[in-house]
Amino acid sequence: MKIYIKGIDDERFHRPLTLIGNLFFEETELCFTKGDSPLEAEFFIHEKSNSVSVRGSLRSEDGKQYEAMKEKEIPEHLEGKDRLRQVKNTLSYVYLTMLQEYTGIIQKWGILTGIRPTKLYHKKRQEGLTEAEIHRMFKDEYLLSEEKIELMKQIVQRQLEVIPDLDTLANEVSIYVGIPFCPTKCAYCTFPAYAINNRQGSVTSFLGGLHFEMKEIGRWLTEKGIKITTVYYGGGTPTSITAEEMDMLYEEMITSFPDVKNIREITVEAGRPDTITKEKLDVLNKYNIDRISINPQSYIQDTLKAIGRHHTVEETIDKFHLARSMGMNNINMDLIIGLPGEGVKEFDYTLSESAKLMPESITVHTLSFKRASEMTKNKHKYKVASREEIGTMMDHAVSWTNENGYAPYYLYRQKNILGNLENVGYALKGQDSIYNIMIMEEQQTIIGIGCGAASKFVDPITRRITQFANPKDPKSYNDGFKHYTEEKIKILEQLFFQTTK
Ligand code: SF4
Repeated sequence: MKIYIKGIDDERFHRPLTLIGNLFFEETELCFTKGDSPLEAEFFIHEKSNSVSVRGSLRSEDGKQYEAMKEKEIPEHLEGKDRLRQVKNTLSYVYLTMLQEYTGIIQKWGILTGIRPTKLYHKKRQEGLTEAEIHRMFKDEYLLSEEKIELMKQIVQRQLEVIPDLDTLANEVSIYVGIPFCPTKCAYCTFPAYAINNRQGSVTSFLGGLHFEMKEIGRWLTEKGIKITTVYYGGGTPTSITAEEMDMLYEEMITSFPDVKNIREITVEAGRPDTITKEKLDVLNKYNIDRISINPQSYIQDTLKAIGRHHTVEETIDKFHLARSMGMNNINMDLIIGLPGEGVKEFDYTLSESAKLMPESITVHTLSFKRASEMTKNKHKYKVASREEIGTMMDHAVSWTNENGYAPYYLYRQKNILGNLENVGYALKGQDSIYNIMIMEEQQTIIGIGCGAASKFVDPITRRITQFANPKDPKSYNDGFKHYTEEKIKILEQLFFQTTK
């Protein structure tokens, strides 16, 4: 959709305008000369030292006109990026208001286009705003619906019950271990995941690098007396390596990492049921790891086939029972709303099958068309439900989880997510994943080791975030793991022992 924009010369406003436009139309293109754009938006921004006002009008092809206006106070001491953010938000507010009126679509997340809404809630809470003030801010400044504000409030409260010391955990770290192999590649996937068949050589060299990283990072943490809050094995599918390889890896973990018995949570994604065996579950038990993920995504066989997951629905159910019978008592299951060919009926069926298993936690994702995935590249091949239907499925997920004793405990949003909705993690009481909360709320450093593992360094004092990514493909990782380990240790030194002293 091309939209002719008038009155905005400053390029820094183009991105917020594009993001807001994309909430309503596929791939918005801003034009600055009058061409064949069916929509024309004009803005007047008037900035003073202590306020900004934005007036806008939107004209459609049939000559109808929509107008909006917003005035906002800006504290005089605000400068630079912080001041600019206020102006951008005011512009987004006006644009969104006009587009809502024009399309008749109400955006429940208002002008919030970032991926971590609850992080903003925590930030305001930590700055000392009361619940009522935060509520008012989201409603009046960000145009959020009551429903989404309540959801955030509920999640934040729950997180603080699960991790009462959340605000002080910046002095500890969590560890993410990336294992980039899967039995086959799913159609919607953009994770570093390589089909494992015929790759044993590359798996062996990769694991050599991973052991090295574990040892060195573990040594540094031990020497510096920094505790680990949680460890998460993701990827890829960490259970696609052999039982013996898993055994050696966890042995390395308990030998190298400090104070392993006091780590609050260790999770291993066993996402693909086709990778789970009795021998691997024995290994998990040996190291007291009882939080795993087994991901059905859907209980409809044709859907699994369409998205490239080469396992059966029965296999998911069988492996769930096997894991349960072998002592796994914190199992997470991922579901996806809006998979190709699925509507409300199919999703309801998936929910009813979930009710038979009652895993300790369920993450309900809404399908997103990630740019690099096979599904996005061949979008025409995949038929997905309408925006309304996606909304209904989400409503059903909310009432089903509520009726079955699950409460939401984390949420995140993605770009190009169907219906501009969100992914929500639900858990039975006391079964919330601490790692998921830490990664979403960015309250502490997460050190990523292994392939495709992104590290996020959170300054314990300023909370400023720096990122560092290990390479995604095993070959580059194998060539450079020593260098990546050294770089991370340098950043950690800086973070914990220079900026803070
Ligand atoms: S199992 Fe997960 S990581 Fe592996 S290909 Fe499928 S979506 Fe990607």
